[in-house]
Parts: sequence; structure tokens; C-alpha cells
Amino acid sequence: MVTLFSGGAGQQQSQANGFETGIWQTPPVLFQTTTGLVIRIEAAGRQFFIQIQGGAMQLLTTAPSLAGADVVALQQVDTGDHSQPEPMEPMQPMEPMEPMKPMESMKPLRMGNMEMRMNPMEMQMGNMRLRMETTPKSPPTPPQAASPRFCTQCGAGVSPHDRFCANCGHRLVPITE
Ligand SMILES: [Zn+2]
Repeated sequence: MVTLFSGGAGQQQSQANGFETGIWQTPPVLFQTTTGLVIRIEAAGRQFFIQIQGGAMQLLTTAPSLAGADVVALQQVDTGDHSQPEPMEPMQPMEPMEPMKPMESMKPLRMGNMEMRMNPMEMQMGNMRLRMETTPKSPPTPPQAASPRFCTQCGAGVSPHDRFCANCGHRLVPITE
């Protein structure tokens, strides 16, 4: 498949022609002749000539006269074939995420007179200090067995053995119990 792109800034035209040439044996050669451009393709033991004149190209049935023609340097570029995209490579399985490093391992950040450290978060700027406790100072609330208990619905005090709130009737123990 030979596709011709022509045009300047602002407008571009393309013309695609399919030529049965067989496998190319050498890179195509581009000639600048007095009448236009000629591409020579050597394939399957014979030569094909494509003439480009203006914005059109055609396959020549006879070899043109290339006497005095200049060979134009060609560059191989990766244009991709957008009409027939290559099949996607199968997705690589995702690398397992590295587990988050615990905050304790973080080193204090220091920028000028500003210092910041994590867990507890502490910021110091000059003589000002901010500290945010992330761990509660008091131990977590003891399990239900301890008294006094309060209804989770209305907040009324209930005895440890009550199954229902005496005030609002809310069930205080899981149904499975
Ligand atoms: Zn209640």
C-alpha cells in the first residue's frame, strides 16, 4: 500500500493506492525528475515505478526515463497504520501494590525553620508548634459487659442485663445472642 500525503500548512490531502508488488527487496528509491517525482520499488524480481505529479500518483506501466533524475534522500518514519490498528498486546497483569509503609518509618520533614513529622503529626514553624494526636489517649471503650450502659438509640441508662431499652424499647443485644 502506497499512501501519498500532500499539502502545505493548513491543508493536507492523502491518496492511497494499492499496488500488487510482492515483497519489497530493497527500500524504495525516490527520483526527482523534470516532470515530477518517481518512486522505484524493487520487488519480486521486477521494478515498479510510481509517478507523483501534483497531488496525484499513478503506477507506471513502463519504466520512465530517469536520465538526469536526482535521487532524493528518503527517511524511514513510523507513521503507523491507523486504518488497521495492530492487535493490542495482552494486558500485563498488574504488579501487586507494595504495602503502605507504616507512618512510623517516615523521617521528619525539614524545610528551613519548618519541621514536620508524622504520628503524631507535629509541625513546627519557628516558635509555633502544631501537634495532632492520631492515637486516642484514653484506652478504647471497654466491651459491653462493663456498666454503666446506655441505649444506643435514645441514650437512656440501661442495666447490663437488659435486652431492650426500658425507655424506648430499642433492642440492645444482637438478635443472634
Ligand atoms: Zn432507648
